[in-house]
Amino acid sequence: MAEPSSRFKDRIALITGGSRGIGRAIAVALASQGAPTVVNYLDDETGAERTVDDITTAGGQGVAVQADVRSADGAARLVSEAERLFGHPVHILVNNAGVIPNSAGWEAERSETLTDAFLTNAAAAVFCAQACVPGMRKAGWGRIVNISSIYGHHASPAVLSYSMSKAALDAVTKALAVDLGPAGITVNSVAPGNIDTAMTRRAGEDYISYIEQRTPVGRLGTVDEVTDAVLMLCDVPFISGATLYVDGALSLAS
Ligand code: NDP
Repeated sequence: MAEPSSRFKDRIALITGGSRGIGRAIAVALASQGAPTVVNYLDDETGAERTVDDITTAGGQGVAVQADVRSADGAARLVSEAERLFGHPVHILVNNAGVIPNSAGWEAERSETLTDAFLTNAAAAVFCAQACVPGMRKAGWGRIVNISSIYGHHASPAVLSYSMSKAALDAVTKALAVDLGPAGITVNSVAPGNIDTAMTRRAGEDYISYIEQRTPVGRLGTVDEVTDAVLMLCDVPFISGATLYVDGALSLAS
């Protein structure tokens, strides 16, 4: 077992959607830097337990908790379970859970896909913050990092429900950053470009080749590169209300 570093020692971390992909990498990184970490998942218990195993191997402390963060009740139950398990308020909340609904273009978007994207990708961050912030206020220290997307900022008619919901998430970041700054709580977004995860691979090899060609650095990003941005935002107290692009300059390329 590895020796954990102490960068986030005794800071309780909660990662929504930690059963795979970006959420797993963030959970393992925070835990291996000393943060007792709650790994939330929706359906994939096996994946969440694998994340916990990876945390243990890295010398950290982690526990998996099932909850559907699309409702205020689900988020409240998750946070109170996290606080019960570790005996302290949650200090670091990473709103990572996300869906990219199958879409046949904006004209075919249905109420169900729009609503599901909005609840999972944007409203869940509000519900989790509502549940975590009272404890962060008491602690006088908190970090909220929302995983948004460059597609919340760039015209994306093919995935409108996703794009709309990620733009809403960045609006949440700005509003909460202003409101929570005086309490010692920073709120930021990390907006990845195309990262090599199951979500991206589902789009197919043709799409991936197209993105690799369009991305100035010539490849997909890695989950570790997104994780490094999250850790930096958890570290620096004067960065708040920011959206940090982690996209290999894709959003700047014509
Ligand atoms: P994955 O599809 O691999 O994982 C999504 C995670 O979200 C899973 O752990 C899933 O849990 C969880 N989840 C989904 N719905 C809920 C819910 N209602 N309650 C709790 N958990 C839920 O995604 P990625 O790792 O690729 O992406 C992670 C985040 O990064 C997302 O917000 C995504 O939009 C964003 N992002 C990803 C990019 C990419 O290229 N991959 C690019 C830009 C942004 P379970 O497995 O249990 O269902």
